[in-house]
Amino acid sequence: MTDAHSDPFLNTCRAIVGADFVLDQPDDMAPFLTDWRGRFTGRARAVLRPQDTAQVALLVQACAAQRVPVVPQGGKTGLVLGSVPDDSGRAVVLSLARMNQVRSVDAVNRTITVDAGVILQAVQEAAAAHQLLFPLSLAAEGSCTIGGNLSTNAGGTAVLRYGNTRELCLGLEVVTPQGEIWHGLRALRKDNTGYDLRDLIIGAEGTLGIITGAVMKLFAQPKASITALVALGSARSALDLLSLAQDACGAALTGFELMSAVCLQLVAEQFPQLPQPFRARHAQYVLLELSSSESEAHAVRLLETAIGQALEQGLAEDAVVATSLAQSRGLWHLREHIPLAQAAAGKNIKHDISLPISRIADFIVQTDAALATAFPDAQVICFGHLGDGNLHYNVAPEDGSGHDAFLANQLAINRIVNDNVVAMHGSISAEHGIGALKRADLAHYKAPVELNMMRAIKAAIDPLGIMNPGKIL
Ligand code: FAD
Repeated sequence: MTDAHSDPFLNTCRAIVGADFVLDQPDDMAPFLTDWRGRFTGRARAVLRPQDTAQVALLVQACAAQRVPVVPQGGKTGLVLGSVPDDSGRAVVLSLARMNQVRSVDAVNRTITVDAGVILQAVQEAAAAHQLLFPLSLAAEGSCTIGGNLSTNAGGTAVLRYGNTRELCLGLEVVTPQGEIWHGLRALRKDNTGYDLRDLIIGAEGTLGIITGAVMKLFAQPKASITALVALGSARSALDLLSLAQDACGAALTGFELMSAVCLQLVAEQFPQLPQPFRARHAQYVLLELSSSESEAHAVRLLETAIGQALEQGLAEDAVVATSLAQSRGLWHLREHIPLAQAAAGKNIKHDISLPISRIADFIVQTDAALATAFPDAQVICFGHLGDGNLHYNVAPEDGSGHDAFLANQLAINRIVNDNVVAMHGSISAEHGIGALKRADLAHYKAPVELNMMRAIKAAIDPLGIMNPGKIL
């Protein structure tokens, strides 16, 4: 703790943003220091809360002059300890939360320009107010910010149709580690003028600069969306259903989420108020979402054709189609409550992995078997965005007891899962990023040539190493 106003560096910060927005007392800083899952609490010299890009630039200049590390922070919903400081107490947290304005909507260009601290749901609502769609959607959308989404290249539930956050971004405004402002808020769909700095900053988790504004793409709102839950006997059947649905529905297929029986059982135990659509237990479930630019009747026809074929071919064991918005929300609630049910049930070992879609069934069968052999008391809670090849393959003790003893196996369990991922040409981080949590895994699995290129980029852009040190590399 610093005595009020005795620290020249903090006094400089106060002169830039105002004393009320430089927090250095433990109680004031506390909400900014613990990660979303409550796994780690860091320490900070101060929390800085600028209100515009010019203030961010001046603050970063002050940090660079004193070699003070900067941890950019958005909604703090990241899952890899990227937005909280380490426990040295040297860094400042730079929160973008006050920079929360939608700057403009260009309905003809189909773009929205926003401050980096705007909450994702507010971007969706601003687009909807112009009868347009901002398609990025994830369970943390009421808290996460567009700057955080860009910095983690977030995925979510509509990647199959619209891509990751990277694919939704046209331009960025960035404060560099030297405190300069890069005015890259271009709203262009074509721009081949040399190295793509925008794509370098996206997914950099705040290690190359601070995003202060962004131009994002908007789309036509679908005329209708329809949701179904399909019960299946295996992950292999789920893959066959994906191919069938892609052939039958084309671009109308906007969501394809896999959930194992254990996932729905966990949701039923923790949230008994949520209706469970099937009486019988099935090995796997797929939540399908279709969006039609024509009409509801068109969406229903496509979905019923796909599900009818799947039932006829014996791929699907059962299916329910939501006939109202409320029913559709109910089905999505089952999917969205899986992480919440897991959190309520106790700690678990998380993996956010991606694989070539064709390898997913083999991965699940082989990795489940390897874990069962090594850790007979392990239970796999596997769900995810199957249409994107992305699984959340989480491991917990089967009987819910002895959590801490089980967590002591984390390294060995990670090694079994990640070795299988890499053997099948997958990625150990699909959409959550690396942060501080997976840094050692990245160093272990990434090829030296890739790591060296990444280190060279970091050294060139942030030679003082003040931007979110200890994250990624
Ligand atoms: P933060 O957690 O604040 O920061 C994340 C990283 O970005 C940190 O490294 C931080 O330093 C950096 N950063 C933040 N803002 C900036 C900025 N303006 N400039 C530079 N760097 C910055 N993720 C998915 O991809 N898909 C999902 O489906 C998904 N579901 C989730 C569900 C739940 C319930 C939760 C809690 C999280 C989920 N996440 C998901 C993870 C998380 O929501 C995303 O990573 C989100 O994009 C983080 O945004 P944020 O604003 O909270 O960022």
